[in-house]
Amino acid sequence: MITGILKEKAGENRVFLLPETVADLIKKKVEVWVEPGSGSGASSPDDQYLQAGAVLKSVDEILEGADVLMRITPPENHWIERLRSGQIWIGILNPLVDKNLVESLVAHHTTAFSLDIIPRTSRAQSMDVLSSQATCAGYRAVLDAAMHLPAFFPMFMTAAGTITPAKVMIIGAGVAGLQAIATSRKLGARVEAFDVRGAVKEEVESLGAKFIQVEGAIDDRSAGGYAVEQSEEFQAKQRQAVHDHAVKSDVIITTAQIPGKQAPVLLMKETVELMKPGSVIVDLATSSGGNCELSVDGKVVDYHGITIIGQSDYPSTIAKDASKMLGKNALNFMNLIIAANGSLNLNFSDELVQGTCVTQDGSIINSRVKSLFT
Ligand code: NAD
Repeated sequence: MITGILKEKAGENRVFLLPETVADLIKKKVEVWVEPGSGSGASSPDDQYLQAGAVLKSVDEILEGADVLMRITPPENHWIERLRSGQIWIGILNPLVDKNLVESLVAHHTTAFSLDIIPRTSRAQSMDVLSSQATCAGYRAVLDAAMHLPAFFPMFMTAAGTITPAKVMIIGAGVAGLQAIATSRKLGARVEAFDVRGAVKEEVESLGAKFIQVEGAIDDRSAGGYAVEQSEEFQAKQRQAVHDHAVKSDVIITTAQIPGKQAPVLLMKETVELMKPGSVIVDLATSSGGNCELSVDGKVVDYHGITIIGQSDYPSTIAKDASKMLGKNALNFMNLIIAANGSLNLNFSDELVQGTCVTQDGSIINSRVKSLFT
């Protein structure tokens, strides 16, 4: 089988497979074609792909000749029209949100896999792109906050006086939040964190942060590790708790998301107005509406001396390692669909293959995506 790596849309620095991952794929008897320039944003020039054993091909050659097409950013619409039966697309398609894309994939009978909807089981952990990329985002968010904060993160006792450590609050202690806690702690900040899933209390505490407890959250363990929407009463209690801690914080990093839904708004304008001048808010949920009422996706806003950073594509700013992790996720997934002789073998009785498939033969396969259309 031939796997084709297509160049990402402008603004996306990552690439699905770095040269080192291409070499691993070639060992599995898969031929790899790469569109020139695909890895340049991730510090991986074409000659490294050639050394790894890939062949450079134009976008048209890849669209026509490859069996598996890979790109992080979704396919162009006119590409979907061109794909032939037997070809498959592997990407990060955000199908719980991008309904138009799903409709187009159905209409053109495309077989498409989206690694962001892989079931969250222990077997799938090594293929979970949301986790690997959230690790990048949590880390980078703290560094960005530290660079915008007009103060130190750690405590310093110097001849010029004592510097008190920064107070950091993390809202949403999932993968990104836990990484943000760990990174803030490494930089010497005092950290507290909040989440609706009580299960994370121990993890938060084991990283040296304080867990802010708000009683009465709906913690649905059947939601596959995800949070669920909360009652109005709980949300009001939570906003009050967030308010009380926010006004004492120097940095707030918000990561709270609910898959396929608008992110909960947890940090209100009135709270931000009472924060200390110079404080920094990083909102990682802005692509799904944002956790802070005042954040704007892709923008740094100065609101009365408070810096509010709305950023949902931090992984692209750490493109090399983000791509390394993505590539490992993709390779682990591809192990499920490559036969020993290197040919494509789609086994839909495997729950991970089935659960990651968005569309095939004009039907929606993933049950969560399907439920959006019924
Ligand atoms: P996410 O990005 O969907 O959400 C981030 C965090 O925000 C979550 O911890 C969520 O509980 C929290 N949140 C949502 N609404 C909130 C609210 N109103 N207030 C405060 N916090 C709120 O989640 P994620 O980080 O991708 O993953 C969540 C969990 O899923 C992980 O911690 C892990 O336990 C599990 N997980 C399992 C696997 C696997 O088994 N394959 C892989 C990844 C994650």
